[in-house]
Amino acid sequence: MSGEKPVSGAASGVGSSQALQPAEDENAKSCWVCFATEADDRLAAWVQPCKCIGTTKWVHQSCLQRWVDEKQRGNITRKVLCPQCKAEYIVVFPSMGAFVALLDAMEDITHKICPFIAGGVLLGSIYWIAITYGAVTVMQVVGHREGLEMMESADPLVLLVLLPTIPVTLISAKMYNWEESVLLFLRKYCAKIPALSYILPFGNVEGDRGAIVTGHNQHNSQHSSSAHLSPTRIFCSALLLPTISTIIGKIFFRSIQNNLHRTILGGITYITIKGALKIYHRQMLYIRHSSRKILDYTESNLKLYRSAAISTTTDAISSTRDDSEQVV
Ligand SMILES: [Zn+2]
Ligand SMILES: [Zn+2]
Repeated sequence: MSGEKPVSGAASGVGSSQALQPAEDENAKSCWVCFATEADDRLAAWVQPCKCIGTTKWVHQSCLQRWVDEKQRGNITRKVLCPQCKAEYIVVFPSMGAFVALLDAMEDITHKICPFIAGGVLLGSIYWIAITYGAVTVMQVVGHREGLEMMESADPLVLLVLLPTIPVTLISAKMYNWEESVLLFLRKYCAKIPALSYILPFGNVEGDRGAIVTGHNQHNSQHSSSAHLSPTRIFCSALLLPTISTIIGKIFFRSIQNNLHRTILGGITYITIKGALKIYHRQMLYIRHSSRKILDYTESNLKLYRSAAISTTTDAISSTRDDSEQVV
């Protein structure tokens, strides 16, 4: 089947063969899809579906329908234009009666509302998961029995609103990367105080120090990408926070009887220790990156590099580089 309509003699300059016998061409029908003429198939139905004139105005009904099917690719409502004169083909469907029309309408409505129903079900599921998570968290934090009593005595409507806000609050709080702010603050103000360098190292290269302190070369540091926490990481650590807080509270603050106080203390301990470790690790990565060096391409350096490359850890590479720096 031809994909493109052949150029009409009338529309774009007369072809040489058509010019010789224009009177006959006007009457002779030739299908622009299958190139058959009237003489080839006397029973085939013909149609002039568009504004084209000349030999290409005629086409077999069945050939054009196949061509339209090909263009519509299953979407029977898609408009199909004549590839040459750009007239829209007038496609009419016979009336199949009121019942079929009703089925058509129902099909159409179903097709349109299904995405909304699916979206609603999804949102509803997320909402109920959030409520369940909130209820479990309340029981975990204030104690199983106390939590149940508290929720039973509360207004159900209030619970339906408040419980889902628990995971939402946890996640949005987690999205604020406070460690990063503390780290930037320390870099900016505390580098001037020598005593603090025992707590947070600022690197030993004087040239790098300026960059580290001001954080100007932050954007090209390899781990600045890790500053943007991944969504899955935020999600997991936010939702696990109550559980971890409870566990740490039970381990370190056993003497405290109030479940809520113990869990809060556990949470604060966990966040503080984790934050401090994270800040320290970030700073060490930062220093490591800032004080990296590219070595001369010499035999000895190459040997060092290759032996480091065999061991898979990046730490090995960096320690080798440190060694070579000392040699230099
Ligand atoms: Zn044909
Ligand atoms: Zn046309």
